Amino acid sequence: MIREWKAKAEKELERITDSPSFEAGCMAQEVIGHRFSDIELSPGELKRLDDMLSRRLNSEPLQYILGKWEFYGLEFFVGEGVLIPRQDTETLVDTALKLLKAVRLPKIADLCSGSGCIAVALEKELEKAENQGDIAAVEKHDEAKKYLEKNLRLHNSKVRLFVGDVLDEKTADEYSNLDMIVSNPPYLTAQDMKNLQKEVRFEPKEALFGDDDGLLFYKGISRIWRKALKPGGYIVFEIGFEQAKDVSGILLGCGYSDVAVVKDLCGKDRVVYGKKAD
Ligand code: GLN
Repeated sequence: MIREWKAKAEKELERITDSPSFEAGCMAQEVIGHRFSDIELSPGELKRLDDMLSRRLNSEPLQYILGKWEFYGLEFFVGEGVLIPRQDTETLVDTALKLLKAVRLPKIADLCSGSGCIAVALEKELEKAENQGDIAAVEKHDEAKKYLEKNLRLHNSKVRLFVGDVLDEKTADEYSNLDMIVSNPPYLTAQDMKNLQKEVRFEPKEALFGDDDGLLFYKGISRIWRKALKPGGYIVFEIGFEQAKDVSGILLGCGYSDVAVVKDLCGKDRVVYGKKAD
């Protein structure tokens, strides 16, 4: 019975998570398609569930085990090699949408796109507002790219994938007249990398580590991509909650104006943006 499996799983999951019941429920939902408790499990289902449970007890993120996760009300494929979409990043999407309110047919580049969750969320929200974005997702890493492609297909998306290094001027040369650059780049410091939660250690270092001070991508993108923005266009970054001052300084140093910081739902600094002067 699923009920018995769940009771066992919850008890074991208590060792590693604050939400054992939720996590066991997610696994059951994934394998049998619903959460009813009085269903007999086939030997195959039981094996799948036990495999999931043992991966999770090994601290692998639940999101990788399920193979998908929700972001901005949409589902995205995730797995080893791609950063898991975080709720914090919804603040980045919210901010971008606010800044784009008056822009018809905005041209946008999402840099370090990973799973593509930001690009696709922007596309779908703009569509809801009867606006249409011309959106590019730029990603360098093969593993992440595979998920990005799958997610674009899943959402029947018109977002265009560009494989390239955002810190290479040649990548930026492909773009001009952008209304917005949006990015959640790797921003953890060398110190942060030493103190990673067990689960986060399963995620790609390339998506997390932003050099010793965590600022490499902010410095590079702000400088290299400025010319790709149209006058009046915005650059919008997700940041680590202690980086608002540094990233604001970088934007001001590169000549952006109207620099502002936005807090996430937990009240932590999470987004910094600036405008290329008209
Ligand atoms: N928010 C992620 C974390 O704290 C970091 C993601 C990133 O570097 N862009 O694990």
